[in-house]
Amino acid sequence: MTTKPFDLTGKVAIVTGGNGGIGLGMARGLAQAGAAVAVVGRNEAKSAEAVADLKKGGATAIAVTADVTDKEAVAAMVGRVRSELGRLDVLVNNAGISIRKPPHVLDIAEWNKVIETNLTSAFLCSQAVHPDMKAAGGGKIINIGSMMSIFGASFASAYAASKGGIVQFTRACACAWAADNIQANAILPGWIDTDLTKRARQEIDGLHDRVLARTPAARWGAIDDFAGIAVFLASPASDFVTGTAIPVDGGYSIMG
Ligand code: NDP
Repeated sequence: MTTKPFDLTGKVAIVTGGNGGIGLGMARGLAQAGAAVAVVGRNEAKSAEAVADLKKGGATAIAVTADVTDKEAVAAMVGRVRSELGRLDVLVNNAGISIRKPPHVLDIAEWNKVIETNLTSAFLCSQAVHPDMKAAGGGKIINIGSMMSIFGASFASAYAASKGGIVQFTRACACAWAADNIQANAILPGWIDTDLTKRARQEIDGLHDRVLARTPAARWGAIDDFAGIAVFLASPASDFVTGTAIPVDGGYSIMG
C-alpha cells in the first residue's frame, strides 16, 4: 500500500447528485483529499454553485448535466468526464429521490421513478465506468443506501425496495469486479439534514424529535459527516474492503 493511504491526488471522481446534500458533502471530502471531481445532476444552476464551492477550496471540478436514469445521457456523461478530466477512478452513486406513500396507494409510475432513480441509475453508471476502471487497473464504486436498506417503514415501499436493492447490487459488483481490482461498497446514511428530509420533517409530526431520541449521537447528521467515509472508500485505505454496507448514522441502527 502507498505510504499515504488516504491520498487521492491525481484521481478523478464522479459524484451523481453531487450538487447538493450528502453528494456535495462527499464531493468536498474527495476534493480535499486531492481528487478532481465531476458533479452530476439535472439542475445546472445548482451544479454550477457546487463546482464554485469545490473550486474555492482549490480543487479541479466540473459540472456535468445528466439524468442518471437515461442510459444515453449516462454514456455521454462518462465520455465527458473521460475527455475533460482524463481518467476515471471513483464513482459515487448518490442521486436519489423519495416518494413517501404506503404500497396500497403508490402508483406504478411513482414506483418506477423511485426504482429508476435510486437503483437502475447505479447499474447504468457502474456499467458505464467499468471498462475505464478495468483498463486503469482498478477503481472504487460507492453506492448510497439508507436506513431503509435495513429497516422497513410504511411510507417507504419503493424507496426501501430501491435501497435494499442497492446493497445487493453492491455485493454483486464486488464479486463480479474483484478480479479487476474494483472495490464496491455501500454507505447507509442515518437521518441527515438535506433538502430530501426537510419536507419529511415538516410533514411528519414529531419526526425531528423521534430521530434525536433514537440517535445515540443525539443530533441529525450533517452533509460534511460524509466527507471522511467517502475518502476512505475512494482511497487505497480501503483496498481490502469490498461488498460492505457501512452505516453513517450516529448509531441510529444499533440503538437498542
Ligand atoms: P438531495 O435531495 O439533497 O439530493 C439528491 C440529489 O440527487 C440532488 O443533487 C439531485 O440533483 C440528484 N438527482 C435526483 N434525481 C436525479 C436524476 N434523475 N439524475 C441526476 N441527478 C439526480 O438528497 P440527499 O442529499 O438527502 O440524498 C442523497 C442520497 O442519500 C440519496 O440517494 C438518498 O436516498 C440518500 N439518503 C439520504 C438520507 C437523508 O437523511 N438525507 C438518508 C438516507 C439516504 P438534481 O436535482 O440537480 O438532479
